[in-house]
Amino acid sequence: EPGPDHEVDVLVVGSGAGAMTAALRAAHAGASVLIVEKAAVYGGTSATSGGGLWIPGNHLMADCGIEDSDADAMQYMAQLVGEDAPAANVRAFVTQGKRMLRWLTEHSHVAYQAMSYYADYYQHLPGAKTGARSIDPLPYHAGVLGRDFHDMQAPHIQTRVLGMIGYSNSEGAILLSKSPGWFKLLCKLTIGYFLDLPWRLRSRRSRRLTMGNALIGRLRRSLLDRRVSIWLRAPVKRLITDAAGAVVGVEIERDGARRTIRATRGVILGSGGFEHNQALRTRYLPQPTQTHWSAASPGNTGDLLIEGQRLGAATRLLDEAWWGPTMHVRGEDRARMLFTERSMPGAIVVNKKGARFFNESVAYTTAVQAMYAAGNLPAYLIFDARYAREYPFGPLLPGGMHLNWLQLRHIRRELLTTAPSLAALATRLGIDADGLAAGVARFNGFAVSGKDEDFQRGENPYDLLYGDARVQPNPCLAPLAEAPFHALEIHPGDIGTKGGLATNEHAQVLHVNGRPIAGLYAVGNVAASVTGRYYPGAGATLGPAMTFGFLAAEHACRDL
Ligand code: FAD
Repeated sequence: EPGPDHEVDVLVVGSGAGAMTAALRAAHAGASVLIVEKAAVYGGTSATSGGGLWIPGNHLMADCGIEDSDADAMQYMAQLVGEDAPAANVRAFVTQGKRMLRWLTEHSHVAYQAMSYYADYYQHLPGAKTGARSIDPLPYHAGVLGRDFHDMQAPHIQTRVLGMIGYSNSEGAILLSKSPGWFKLLCKLTIGYFLDLPWRLRSRRSRRLTMGNALIGRLRRSLLDRRVSIWLRAPVKRLITDAAGAVVGVEIERDGARRTIRATRGVILGSGGFEHNQALRTRYLPQPTQTHWSAASPGNTGDLLIEGQRLGAATRLLDEAWWGPTMHVRGEDRARMLFTERSMPGAIVVNKKGARFFNESVAYTTAVQAMYAAGNLPAYLIFDARYAREYPFGPLLPGGMHLNWLQLRHIRRELLTTAPSLAALATRLGIDADGLAAGVARFNGFAVSGKDEDFQRGENPYDLLYGDARVQPNPCLAPLAEAPFHALEIHPGDIGTKGGLATNEHAQVLHVNGRPIAGLYAVGNVAASVTGRYYPGAGATLGPAMTFGFLAAEHACRDL
């Protein structure tokens, strides 16, 4: 073995939100900490996300008058998780997530507001809340990051108006549903963007950080305050163990050479899922599945999952993902999620029989679960001319506009199928025309009465989140009546895989023999999710990732 080039107390692998929270907590405890990141930028998928956290019982809930308790949260979680995650882990998340948030609020630049309108995803379950367990990062100014701003992963293109102007989740909710004041808000954001003149002359990137960029920016500033370094372009290639099997360091590749880093207190893995590893997707996930259907960070290829397995780690839920229907635009390095398009009035999703098969307004994971369960893939999102005129759709602005003419042509030619009638549309797609005609006629009747008798779309607070407040009697239902009609093939994609290394309530990785592997922790999507096979509410990937990052650091530094 080559001798150690470098020694720290805690070595953190990856620079998503869970990893950074771990690094921050360990540094605060007095440990020397280093983050090593494979990509040329820090932040991972976390930086490209909405930055929302799902934290039951969080201290911001009281601001909106929504009460919560550990008992309510445990009841809700227990129904979703069943035997799919250890009860001790669920309890740790429910009781410690709120402590993590309060700690960050008091000891870092991380700042959040509650989303009182953002309902839990399974409203029919006892213990669900109508809002405020999901919280939204407050925008942040990139200027305080200095040169480090240039090294941050840019936001996902789908979270910017015209691919440029960012908005917070709370602002996005107003813009998308065209709630009162939406146009004024759009003008304010646009003017603010263009008035940042010194920066506009240099870059299209906005310095007003929102969503995942706000979270990662706030975490990075907090780490800079504690002088924690991030080594970019430094992928971990191997975990190093001692004679007793404890993890004592890692081997990385940097500047073309292998280097060893010794970690005296532990290695915390926050290296993301295996979204962009086709071999692992083919081995573990339901089929069909493709890497380019994933909206996650391209560097996430399951490297440390494979390393953990080599050391004998147990795994769970490898067939699961944080699912979401996606589309892929040629030239983009990751897919775009259809978070809202399915739900806005005037669109439906059908299978090859031309039939609807689920409530299109459900949350994204449920949507893909319905796609796989129904079979008959691919599925198509069908909408009419009124819808195209009114709402943004994938990369297209309302009215089907796009600033980039080449991309617009590509989208029109290769992604969208358009026809003057539903019958012609069905023929072009090669799906059952009679089925489509009957399905649309039935749906149009529901739109008039305001009642979806087949799938109850628009009948709970979550569905209404992405409806058009101006459309009545049901903001999620409008007839598909105006030609031309459009169709988009949608894929069973994801925003991250959620199966991984089995961990305990301290985020210690467990060996197949049931005992923790000393010195090894895993948080975020490299670890098996505490939420089992479901997605309890907005922020349920990052909330647990950060909670277990926090707990891993406390465990590694427990005697400091
Ligand atoms: P990441 O944030 O991807 O971090 C992993 C990092 O590890 C990457 O930077 C990667 O390069 C690095 N890495 C990989 N391999 C190695 C290696 N060998 N050595 C060193 N480094 C390595 N979730 C929410 O909870 N709330 C939301 O609001 C939300 N919105 C989303 C919106 C979009 C558009 C998308 C795409 C996702 C969203 N998600 C959201 C999902 C969420 O972003 C991910 O589940 C989460 O970021 C995963 O965190 P992670 O730390 O596991 O991985």
